[in-house]
Amino acid sequence: MSDSIRPGKPLILAIANQKGGVGKTTTAINLAAGLAELGARILVVDLDPQGNASTGLGIEAPDRLKTSYDLLLDKPDLDEVILPTRTDNLFLCPANADLASADIELAVNEKRSQLLREALRQQGMERFGFDYILIDCPPSLSLLTVNALIACDSVLVPLQSEFFALEGLSQLMLTIREVRGTANPALKIEGVLLTMYDKRNNLSQLVEGDARQNLGDLVFRTMIPRNVRVSEAPSYALPVLSYDPTSKGSEAYRALAREIAVRHGFAARQEPAL
Ligand code: ADP
Ligand code: MG
Repeated sequence: MSDSIRPGKPLILAIANQKGGVGKTTTAINLAAGLAELGARILVVDLDPQGNASTGLGIEAPDRLKTSYDLLLDKPDLDEVILPTRTDNLFLCPANADLASADIELAVNEKRSQLLREALRQQGMERFGFDYILIDCPPSLSLLTVNALIACDSVLVPLQSEFFALEGLSQLMLTIREVRGTANPALKIEGVLLTMYDKRNNLSQLVEGDARQNLGDLVFRTMIPRNVRVSEAPSYALPVLSYDPTSKGSEAYRALAREIAVRHGFAARQEPAL
């Protein structure tokens, strides 16, 4: 067993970019599915009031009895907020519109920016045996995203391969620096992931060149191609890895999962020795 993955202490990744539509939710769902295929146990925390990760993983609104809102602001029974999905090893803490008011309610709470950190480290979490927790952030640098940055070990930043992609990054980096300077000095950047990459499009190549030149090794080797199967999968309430396992999108998210798992020394779960 490696140092980085220890039983009962999952690696927590926040998937953040204050821009909407860059592939955060798609990456949360499909990276989770890729890691689950490798035998890791995964929790996706939906931290966006839009609840897209919840829908995409097949947990419909009426089934979201307890949500990440409760996880932050109440002390719910963990079995009520951590739900199994149709994918083995993949669990979800869902979100709904309640979370939209959380920013205001959090503002008056003394521990406002630490609530998610405390919730994910509370006693009782260890019995789920998660190897990774992926937090799907909302498209803003709100208190919810700050909660995720304080709760996590590292941040994964999806970057849509289009013009102006790098522009919003400096604001996110500034927030990361502030969080490092205060509540989470150990916060790392897991990497920047180029999404919706179209190799026939010059612009995609320009953005890639720019990103690799400016950010160097922070950019994942794996890039996620623009692939229609990826965008269809959520309407079937499945990760693309289940919806169309051999699609280019599935292959790319599997490669990303391997890139991350190898980095953390995660070897497929062994059968217990007899
Ligand atoms: P965010 O969570 O950052 O707002 P989403 O993951 O919801 O972004 O993605 C925005 C839109 O782009 C969604 O409709 C999604 O299906 C689509 N999309 C994301 N990644 C891809 C991809 N690799 N190929 C095609 N469509 C994609
Ligand atoms: Mg989203």
